[in-house]
Amino acid sequence: KPRVLSGIQPTADSFHLGNYLGALKTWVDMQDEYDTLYFIPDMHAITVQHDPVALRARTTTALAQLLAIGVDPERSAIFAQSQVPEHAQLAWILMCLTGFGEASRMTQFKDKSAKQGTDHASVGLFTYPMLMSADILLYQAEYVPVGEDQRQHLELTRDLAQRFNTRFGAALTVPKAFITKESAKIYDLQDPTSKMSKSGPSPAGLINLLDDPKVSAKKIKSAVTDAEREIRYDPAAKPGVSNLLVINSVLSGRSIAELEQHFAGKGYGDLKVDTADVLTEFVVPLKAKVDNFLDDRAELERMLDIGAQRARAIASETLADVYDKIGFLQPK
Ligand code: ATP
Ligand code: MG
Repeated sequence: KPRVLSGIQPTADSFHLGNYLGALKTWVDMQDEYDTLYFIPDMHAITVQHDPVALRARTTTALAQLLAIGVDPERSAIFAQSQVPEHAQLAWILMCLTGFGEASRMTQFKDKSAKQGTDHASVGLFTYPMLMSADILLYQAEYVPVGEDQRQHLELTRDLAQRFNTRFGAALTVPKAFITKESAKIYDLQDPTSKMSKSGPSPAGLINLLDDPKVSAKKIKSAVTDAEREIRYDPAAKPGVSNLLVINSVLSGRSIAELEQHFAGKGYGDLKVDTADVLTEFVVPLKAKVDNFLDDRAELERMLDIGAQRARAIASETLADVYDKIGFLQPK
Protein backbone atom coordinates (compact mmCIF):
# COMPACT_ATOMS: atom_id res chain seq x y z
CA LYS A 1 0.00 0.00 0.00
CA PRO A 2 1.32 3.49 -0.78
CA ARG A 3 2.13 5.48 2.31
CA VAL A 4 0.23 8.65 3.18
CA LEU A 5 1.08 11.07 5.94
CA SER A 6 -1.11 13.85 7.31
CA GLY A 7 -1.31 16.01 10.41
CA ILE A 8 -3.73 18.31 12.18
CA GLN A 9 -2.63 20.92 14.69
CA PRO A 10 -3.84 20.87 18.29
CA THR A 11 -4.39 24.63 18.28
CA ALA A 12 -8.04 24.76 19.33
CA ASP A 13 -10.18 23.06 21.95
CA SER A 14 -12.20 21.39 19.22
CA PHE A 15 -11.90 20.62 15.54
CA HIS A 16 -14.44 22.49 13.45
CA LEU A 17 -16.81 21.35 10.74
CA GLY A 18 -14.42 22.56 8.01
CA ASN A 19 -11.57 20.48 9.47
CA TYR A 20 -13.82 17.45 9.58
CA LEU A 21 -15.55 17.67 6.21
CA GLY A 22 -12.51 19.08 4.42
CA ALA A 23 -9.79 16.86 5.85
CA LEU A 24 -10.48 14.42 8.67
CA LYS A 25 -13.31 12.57 6.96
CA THR A 26 -10.86 11.71 4.18
CA TRP A 27 -8.39 10.43 6.80
CA VAL A 28 -10.93 7.83 7.81
CA ASP A 29 -11.60 6.73 4.22
CA MET A 30 -7.92 6.57 3.26
CA GLN A 31 -7.22 3.88 5.82
CA ASP A 32 -8.50 1.16 3.48
CA GLU A 33 -6.29 1.88 0.51
CA TYR A 34 -3.20 3.43 2.05
CA ASP A 35 -0.64 2.81 4.71
CA THR A 36 -1.69 5.77 6.83
CA LEU A 37 0.33 7.75 9.35
CA TYR A 38 -1.50 10.53 11.18
CA PHE A 39 0.14 12.88 13.59
CA ILE A 40 -0.64 15.77 15.89
CA PRO A 41 1.97 18.47 15.20
CA ASP A 42 2.40 19.83 18.69
CA MET A 43 5.83 21.19 17.74
CA HIS A 44 4.27 23.26 14.98
CA ALA A 45 1.72 24.48 17.50
CA ILE A 46 4.39 26.32 19.51
CA THR A 47 5.55 28.43 16.56
CA VAL A 48 3.01 30.93 17.81
CA GLN A 49 2.46 31.91 21.46
CA HIS A 50 0.68 29.19 23.34
CA ASP A 51 -0.41 28.03 26.77
CA PRO A 52 1.33 24.79 27.92
CA VAL A 53 -1.67 23.50 29.87
CA ALA A 54 -3.97 24.07 26.92
CA LEU A 55 -1.52 22.46 24.50
CA ARG A 56 -1.30 19.27 26.52
CA ALA A 57 -5.09 19.06 26.87
CA ARG A 58 -5.62 19.82 23.20
CA THR A 59 -3.23 17.09 22.13
CA THR A 60 -5.19 14.39 23.96
CA THR A 61 -8.50 15.93 22.90
CA ALA A 62 -7.28 15.86 19.30
CA LEU A 63 -6.56 12.15 19.63
CA ALA A 64 -9.97 11.53 21.24
CA GLN A 65 -11.66 13.32 18.32
CA LEU A 66 -9.69 11.36 15.74
CA LEU A 67 -10.67 8.08 17.37
CA ALA A 68 -14.30 9.18 17.67
CA ILE A 69 -14.61 10.01 13.98
CA GLY A 70 -13.19 6.63 13.02
CA VAL A 71 -9.42 6.88 12.73
CA ASP A 72 -8.42 3.36 13.70
CA PRO A 73 -5.24 2.85 15.73
CA GLU A 74 -4.98 -0.69 14.39
CA ARG A 75 -4.76 0.44 10.79
CA SER A 76 -3.13 3.84 11.25
CA ALA A 77 -0.14 4.98 13.24
CA ILE A 78 -1.41 7.94 15.28
CA PHE A 79 1.21 9.93 17.18
CA ALA A 80 2.30 13.25 18.62
CA GLN A 81 5.15 14.90 16.74
CA SER A 82 7.16 15.81 19.85
CA GLN A 83 7.29 12.15 20.88
CA VAL A 84 9.27 11.29 17.77
CA PRO A 85 12.52 13.25 18.21
CA GLU A 86 13.64 12.43 14.66
CA HIS A 87 11.35 15.24 13.43
CA ALA A 88 13.50 17.89 15.12
CA GLN A 89 16.70 16.13 14.12
CA LEU A 90 15.91 15.95 10.42
CA ALA A 91 14.46 19.46 10.45
CA TRP A 92 17.85 20.85 11.47
CA ILE A 93 19.56 19.20 8.51
CA LEU A 94 16.88 20.50 6.14
CA MET A 95 17.26 24.01 7.54
CA CYS A 96 20.92 23.83 6.63
CA LEU A 97 19.94 22.93 3.06
CA THR A 98 17.41 25.74 2.69
CA GLY A 99 18.43 29.14 1.38
CA PHE A 100 17.51 32.12 3.52
CA GLY A 101 15.93 33.78 0.49
CA GLU A 102 14.11 30.60 -0.39
CA ALA A 103 12.57 30.40 3.09
CA SER A 104 11.75 34.11 2.96
CA ARG A 105 9.58 33.55 -0.09
CA MET A 106 7.13 31.29 1.77
CA THR A 107 3.85 33.14 1.56
CA GLN A 108 2.41 31.63 4.74
CA PHE A 109 5.29 33.07 6.76
CA LYS A 110 4.91 36.42 5.03
CA ASP A 111 1.18 36.50 5.81
CA LYS A 112 1.44 35.31 9.40
CA SER A 113 4.45 37.44 10.31
CA ALA A 114 2.83 40.49 8.74
CA LYS A 115 -0.18 39.89 10.99
CA GLN A 116 1.93 39.47 14.14
CA GLY A 117 4.65 42.01 13.39
CA THR A 118 8.21 40.82 12.68
CA ASP A 119 9.29 41.35 16.29
CA HIS A 120 6.62 38.95 17.53
CA ALA A 121 6.94 36.36 14.79
CA SER A 122 9.33 33.65 16.00
CA VAL A 123 12.19 32.08 14.10
CA GLY A 124 10.24 28.85 14.59
CA LEU A 125 7.46 30.29 12.47
CA PHE A 126 10.09 31.07 9.83
CA THR A 127 11.50 27.53 9.86
CA TYR A 128 8.07 25.89 10.09
CA PRO A 129 8.23 24.71 6.44
CA MET A 130 11.48 22.82 7.06
CA LEU A 131 9.95 21.06 10.07
CA MET A 132 6.98 20.21 7.88
CA SER A 133 9.38 18.84 5.26
CA ALA A 134 11.00 16.67 7.91
CA ASP A 135 7.56 15.41 8.99
CA ILE A 136 6.94 14.15 5.48
CA LEU A 137 10.41 12.97 4.42
CA LEU A 138 11.10 10.90 7.54
CA TYR A 139 8.37 8.47 6.52
CA GLN A 140 9.28 8.28 2.83
CA ALA A 141 5.64 9.20 2.21
CA GLU A 142 4.61 8.92 -1.41
CA TYR A 143 1.52 11.05 -1.00
CA VAL A 144 0.64 13.99 1.17
CA PRO A 145 -2.91 15.34 1.20
CA VAL A 146 -2.53 19.09 1.11
CA GLY A 147 -4.88 21.99 0.85
CA GLU A 148 -4.09 24.96 -1.39
CA ASP A 149 -2.49 26.76 1.59
CA GLN A 150 0.18 24.05 1.97
CA ARG A 151 1.03 23.61 -1.69
CA GLN A 152 4.09 25.89 -1.60
CA HIS A 153 5.43 24.07 1.45
CA LEU A 154 5.06 20.74 -0.31
CA GLU A 155 6.98 22.14 -3.30
CA LEU A 156 9.77 23.11 -0.90
CA THR A 157 9.69 19.61 0.56
CA ARG A 158 10.11 18.13 -2.89
CA ASP A 159 12.99 20.52 -3.66
CA LEU A 160 14.74 19.71 -0.38
CA ALA A 161 14.41 15.95 -0.92
CA GLN A 162 15.85 16.26 -4.41
CA ARG A 163 18.61 18.54 -3.18
CA PHE A 164 19.60 16.13 -0.44
CA ASN A 165 19.54 13.16 -2.79
CA THR A 166 21.65 14.94 -5.40
CA ARG A 167 24.26 16.23 -2.98
CA PHE A 168 24.59 13.33 -0.60
CA GLY A 169 23.04 10.28 -2.26
CA ALA A 170 19.50 8.97 -2.51
CA ALA A 171 17.90 8.75 0.94
CA LEU A 172 14.57 10.54 0.64
CA THR A 173 11.39 9.81 -1.32
CA VAL A 174 10.13 12.83 -3.25
CA PRO A 175 6.47 13.12 -2.22
CA LYS A 176 3.54 13.98 -4.44
CA ALA A 177 0.56 16.14 -3.56
CA PHE A 178 -2.47 13.98 -2.97
CA ILE A 179 -5.51 15.46 -4.59
CA THR A 180 -8.25 14.38 -2.25
CA LYS A 181 -11.21 13.02 -4.19
CA GLU A 182 -14.04 15.33 -3.28
CA SER A 183 -13.34 16.74 0.11
CA ALA A 184 -15.71 19.58 0.74
CA LYS A 185 -14.75 23.16 1.38
CA ILE A 186 -16.93 24.64 4.10
CA TYR A 187 -17.61 28.35 4.40
CA ASP A 188 -18.23 30.68 7.31
CA LEU A 189 -21.94 30.72 8.18
CA GLN A 190 -21.96 34.48 8.63
CA ASP A 191 -19.68 35.29 5.72
CA PRO A 192 -20.19 32.45 3.23
CA THR A 193 -17.57 33.78 0.83
CA SER A 194 -14.72 33.12 3.30
CA LYS A 195 -13.84 29.65 4.45
CA MET A 196 -14.86 28.51 7.89
CA SER A 197 -11.81 28.92 10.12
CA LYS A 198 -10.94 28.87 13.79
CA SER A 199 -9.38 32.30 13.30
CA GLY A 200 -12.39 33.67 11.42
CA PRO A 201 -14.02 36.97 12.28
CA SER A 202 -17.12 35.80 14.19
CA PRO A 203 -17.78 32.77 16.40
CA ALA A 204 -21.31 32.69 14.96
CA GLY A 205 -19.87 31.58 11.63
CA LEU A 206 -17.92 28.65 13.09
CA ILE A 207 -19.24 25.22 14.07
CA ASN A 208 -16.99 23.38 16.51
CA LEU A 209 -17.56 19.63 16.73
CA LEU A 210 -17.44 19.68 20.53
CA ASP A 211 -19.63 22.73 21.10
CA ASP A 212 -23.04 22.36 22.72
CA PRO A 213 -25.19 20.91 19.88
CA LYS A 214 -27.96 23.39 20.72
CA VAL A 215 -25.59 26.30 20.17
CA SER A 216 -24.47 24.81 16.85
CA ALA A 217 -28.07 24.25 15.74
CA LYS A 218 -28.79 27.92 16.48
CA LYS A 219 -25.80 28.99 14.41
CA ILE A 220 -27.09 26.98 11.45
CA LYS A 221 -30.52 28.55 11.85
CA SER A 222 -28.95 32.05 11.88
CA ALA A 223 -26.75 31.38 8.83
CA VAL A 224 -26.63 34.15 6.26
CA THR A 225 -28.52 33.29 3.06
CA ASP A 226 -29.79 35.63 0.34
CA ALA A 227 -32.84 37.62 -0.70
CA GLU A 228 -34.27 35.01 -3.10
CA ARG A 229 -36.43 32.10 -2.02
CA GLU A 230 -35.22 29.26 -4.19
CA ILE A 231 -33.12 26.45 -2.69
CA ARG A 232 -30.56 25.74 -5.38
CA TYR A 233 -26.85 24.91 -5.43
CA ASP A 234 -25.17 27.94 -6.98
CA PRO A 235 -22.03 28.90 -5.02
CA ALA A 236 -21.41 32.11 -7.01
CA ALA A 237 -24.89 33.58 -6.70
CA LYS A 238 -26.02 31.83 -3.51
CA PRO A 239 -22.97 31.06 -1.34
CA GLY A 240 -24.87 30.77 1.95
CA VAL A 241 -27.56 28.40 0.67
CA SER A 242 -24.98 26.37 -1.26
CA ASN A 243 -22.85 26.02 1.88
CA LEU A 244 -25.83 24.69 3.84
CA LEU A 245 -26.60 22.25 1.04
CA VAL A 246 -23.02 20.96 1.06
CA ILE A 247 -22.96 20.57 4.85
CA ASN A 248 -26.30 18.80 4.78
CA SER A 249 -25.32 16.59 1.86
CA VAL A 250 -22.00 15.39 3.24
CA LEU A 251 -23.38 14.75 6.72
CA SER A 252 -26.59 13.03 5.59
CA GLY A 253 -25.22 11.16 2.59
CA ARG A 254 -27.92 12.59 0.32
CA SER A 255 -26.74 14.11 -2.95
CA ILE A 256 -27.12 17.83 -3.65
CA ALA A 257 -29.60 16.99 -6.44
CA GLU A 258 -31.68 14.94 -4.03
CA LEU A 259 -31.71 17.80 -1.57
CA GLU A 260 -32.70 20.35 -4.24
CA GLN A 261 -35.58 18.10 -5.18
CA HIS A 262 -36.58 17.53 -1.57
CA PHE A 263 -36.63 21.26 -0.83
CA ALA A 264 -38.33 22.35 -4.07
CA GLY A 265 -41.06 24.84 -3.17
CA LYS A 266 -39.92 24.99 0.46
CA GLY A 267 -38.26 27.91 2.24
CA TYR A 268 -34.83 28.61 3.65
CA GLY A 269 -36.22 27.99 7.12
CA ASP A 270 -36.94 24.37 6.16
CA LEU A 271 -33.43 23.87 4.83
CA LYS A 272 -31.96 25.33 8.00
CA VAL A 273 -34.08 23.22 10.36
CA ASP A 274 -33.25 20.08 8.41
CA THR A 275 -29.53 20.90 8.30
CA ALA A 276 -29.50 21.70 12.02
CA ASP A 277 -31.14 18.31 12.66
CA VAL A 278 -28.63 16.49 10.48
CA LEU A 279 -25.80 18.24 12.29
CA THR A 280 -27.25 17.42 15.69
CA GLU A 281 -27.58 13.75 14.75
CA PHE A 282 -23.93 13.78 13.79
CA VAL A 283 -22.41 15.70 16.73
CA VAL A 284 -24.40 14.26 19.65
CA PRO A 285 -23.03 10.70 19.39
CA LEU A 286 -19.63 12.04 18.36
CA LYS A 287 -19.37 14.20 21.46
CA ALA A 288 -20.40 11.25 23.63
CA LYS A 289 -17.64 9.13 22.12
CA VAL A 290 -15.06 11.87 22.62
CA ASP A 291 -16.10 12.29 26.27
CA ASN A 292 -15.83 8.56 26.70
CA PHE A 293 -12.28 8.49 25.36
CA LEU A 294 -11.36 11.50 27.49
CA ASP A 295 -12.49 9.66 30.61
CA ASP A 296 -9.40 7.51 30.34
CA ARG A 297 -6.49 9.81 29.65
CA ALA A 298 -3.98 7.18 30.64
CA GLU A 299 -5.29 4.99 27.85
CA LEU A 300 -5.05 7.87 25.37
CA GLU A 301 -1.45 8.46 26.39
CA ARG A 302 -0.73 4.77 26.02
CA MET A 303 -2.13 4.87 22.49
CA LEU A 304 0.06 7.84 21.62
CA ASP A 305 3.02 5.94 22.96
CA ILE A 306 2.28 2.96 20.73
CA GLY A 307 1.80 5.30 17.76
CA ALA A 308 5.14 6.98 18.47
CA GLN A 309 6.90 3.63 18.60
CA ARG A 310 5.44 2.64 15.25
CA ALA A 311 6.45 5.99 13.78
CA ARG A 312 9.97 5.82 15.24
CA ALA A 313 10.55 2.42 13.70
CA ILE A 314 10.31 4.10 10.29
CA ALA A 315 11.68 7.54 11.14
CA SER A 316 14.83 6.24 12.83
CA GLU A 317 15.80 4.28 9.71
CA THR A 318 15.50 7.34 7.51
CA LEU A 319 17.42 9.47 9.98
CA ALA A 320 20.22 6.93 10.32
CA ASP A 321 20.65 6.89 6.55
CA VAL A 322 20.57 10.70 6.39
CA TYR A 323 23.09 11.01 9.24
CA ASP A 324 25.37 8.56 7.53
CA LYS A 325 25.18 10.24 4.12
CA ILE A 326 25.70 13.72 5.54
CA GLY A 327 28.84 12.64 7.36
CA PHE A 328 27.76 12.34 10.97
CA LEU A 329 29.06 9.51 13.07
CA GLN A 330 26.23 7.11 13.84
CA PRO A 331 25.00 7.50 17.41
CA LYS A 332 25.84 4.42 19.47
P1 ATP B 1 -6.30 28.73 10.68
O1 ATP B 1 -7.38 29.74 10.62
O2 ATP B 1 -5.37 28.87 11.86
O3 ATP B 1 -5.57 28.53 9.38
P2 ATP B 1 -8.10 26.59 10.11
O4 ATP B 1 -9.40 26.71 10.78
O5 ATP B 1 -7.98 27.00 8.66
O6 ATP B 1 -7.04 27.35 10.97
P3 ATP B 1 -6.19 24.51 9.86
O7 ATP B 1 -5.56 24.00 11.10
O8 ATP B 1 -5.46 25.47 8.99
O9 ATP B 1 -7.62 25.11 10.26
O10 ATP B 1 -6.64 23.31 8.93
C1 ATP B 1 -6.58 21.95 9.27
C2 ATP B 1 -7.11 21.14 8.11
O11 ATP B 1 -8.49 21.43 7.89
C3 ATP B 1 -6.43 21.43 6.79
O12 ATP B 1 -6.27 20.21 6.08
C4 ATP B 1 -7.37 22.34 6.08
O13 ATP B 1 -7.25 22.25 4.67
C5 ATP B 1 -8.73 21.84 6.56
N1 ATP B 1 -9.71 22.93 6.60
C6 ATP B 1 -9.67 24.00 7.42
N2 ATP B 1 -10.74 24.80 7.23
C7 ATP B 1 -11.48 24.21 6.25
C8 ATP B 1 -12.71 24.55 5.60
N3 ATP B 1 -13.39 25.64 5.93
N4 ATP B 1 -13.18 23.72 4.66
C9 ATP B 1 -12.51 22.60 4.32
N5 ATP B 1 -11.35 22.23 4.88
C10 ATP B 1 -10.83 23.01 5.84
MG1 MG C 1 -5.84 27.25 7.75
